[in-house]
Amino acid sequence: MSIFSADQKFERFEDVTPEFLKNEGIKLLLCDLDNTLRLHSEKEPTDELIEWIDDLRKAGIKIVIISNNGRKKMMQNFCKPIRVDCVWWAKKPVSTKLTEARLSYGFTCEETAMLGDKWSTDVLAAKNAGVRSYQVRHRKKVL
Ligand SMILES: [Mg+2]
Repeated sequence: MSIFSADQKFERFEDVTPEFLKNEGIKLLLCDLDNTLRLHSEKEPTDELIEWIDDLRKAGIKIVIISNNGRKKMMQNFCKPIRVDCVWWAKKPVSTKLTEARLSYGFTCEETAMLGDKWSTDVLAAKNAGVRSYQVRHRKKVL
């Protein structure tokens, strides 16, 4: 696959199903937060996000949020109720934090994917880390 495009594109995070991930052999899904799992303005996880994370968890897929957002307290407050580990100020497209997370949970590159909305940070970080890249359309507020 070309460096200029993600391995797979989706409309929204909900379209990344447990069935798809199992089929791909993915056991660790690293997720961007802003404009991927939430709109930038959302302070709390939506019902859709809670349900999606529950479904993935039931399927035995580990989720870790890897964000370039540097607001540690906000990240922790957002991630605590959904019981998801998070990494803030990850400096994507640098892949260090992706690889650290992958190794700390004991997964191989083949078992790992990064999901995000931006090519220049998320997709490139996945390519630098040697893991699968999935891209969702940038989420914007519908007025
Ligand atoms: Mg983003």
